[in-house]
Amino acid sequence: MEQFEVIIIGGGIVGSAAACALGDAGMRVAVVEARAARSDAPERDSRRYAITRASERIFRALEVWDAIAAEDPCAFTDMEVWDAVGNGRLHFDCAELGEPCLGYILEPRIITAALRTGLQTRSTVSVFSPASCTALNSAGTHIEVILDDERALAASLVVAADGARSPVRTLLGIDTRSRDYDQSSLVALVRTDEPHRNTAWQRFLPGGPLAFLPMANGWCSIVWTLPAADINGMLSLAEDDFHAALGTAFDHRLGAIVESGPRTAWPLRRQHAGHYVIERAALVGDAAHTIHPLAGQGVNLGLLDAAALSEVVLDSIHQGRDPGSLRTLRRYERWRRGDNLLMMSAMDGINRLFSNASPLLGQVRSRGLDAVNHAGTLRQLFMRHAMGLGGDLPALARVRQVPLPSA
Ligand SMILES: Cc1cc2nc3c(=O)[nH]c(=O)nc-3n(C[C@H](O)[C@H](O)[C@H](O)COP(=O)(O)OP(=O)(O)OC[C@H]3O[C@@H](n4cnc5c(N)ncnc54)[C@H](O)[C@@H]3O)c2cc1C
Repeated sequence: MEQFEVIIIGGGIVGSAAACALGDAGMRVAVVEARAARSDAPERDSRRYAITRASERIFRALEVWDAIAAEDPCAFTDMEVWDAVGNGRLHFDCAELGEPCLGYILEPRIITAALRTGLQTRSTVSVFSPASCTALNSAGTHIEVILDDERALAASLVVAADGARSPVRTLLGIDTRSRDYDQSSLVALVRTDEPHRNTAWQRFLPGGPLAFLPMANGWCSIVWTLPAADINGMLSLAEDDFHAALGTAFDHRLGAIVESGPRTAWPLRRQHAGHYVIERAALVGDAAHTIHPLAGQGVNLGLLDAAALSEVVLDSIHQGRDPGSLRTLRRYERWRRGDNLLMMSAMDGINRLFSNASPLLGQVRSRGLDAVNHAGTLRQLFMRHAMGLGGDLPALARVRQVPLPSA
């Protein structure tokens, strides 16, 4: 039985970030990840993530940002949101807040690779991969984790960072409340006739929102949310027909669609765990919550979970308390569950308000968007939330990085 202080199951972005944060404080951490790290494997995930400024701060604090920045993320400076039914419009510009950008568009693979290197360079962290957790045994002040190759690990705390389906959440007996959105997101990379102007674009259509996210090579990553019944038809359209349909749906804001890559579909489901913690175990990231992707917040919320949990665990150790006790872990749950629920409910509300063709609601939406657009303070508040800088931030996300003056 190998002994650790914390065992994290799931070495995706959220689990790896939590491991780096705890490892930096000198804790002995094990990461159990089912997938082998293979740099030569073809990338099957064509999604690009919108990463908030709060997540950037966390990556900087964990010293993985330089590796991410070296891979040319696209810093977007503006956001343009408009409604297909009404004529409301909302525009965000980072200059208004004196910030260099609102966030970044990135390949998830780049973040995962930077964090994996981060794990390897920390002597306090041991990675078990490929390996899966198949059983958990409660053992008083410890919890035992049994791997699929029958190795056994023990620690005073297990963190489930094993994604939306979370086998560990099931082993822990934590239930979830979930609901199908009856929508799927079609994801693809596209090249448009006109430059994207480093702007994240979102048009609300009656079937769901359509986002064009700018990429460093001049292309855009699209996330087109459609009623579930329409997705297969759109996936199988001939390329020219798809370009025409997409151009129309986007109101030709960037001219014609001239080229596109493979299309994939992601069925959407909202899910929230009934509890984030029990004695000796905590859930983080998608294991705790999955959220509508319309504002690109899923992994950003998960990173805030990882930072908050690490802070709570480290505080408990400094105060001589048991990091795996329910009392310690409840502080994490109180901190994050309310914020996550608020964001999930806000996304649900926006999705419901905009995903319909009612002319009456169209008028309400237009007035709402225009009101926010014309009220400076309210617009700035929305911008700060979109950048991940609203709410009660963990210390790792609070430190503002002041850029060095250029030589
Ligand atoms: C269409 C779409 C677009 C999105 N766009 C954005 C965006 O722009 N910005 C954003 O912030 N979020 C976005 N998201 C959300 C984002 O994809 C998720 O929030 C994120 O992947 C969650 O990360 P995670 O580390 O919690 O879980 P995952 O990424 O699911 O990682 C879980 C890890 O656990 C491992 N694992 C699973 N079971 C076991 C086991 N038994 N033992 C060991 N390891 C195990 C898996 O191999 C995996 O590596 C989007 C989602 C969708 C569907």
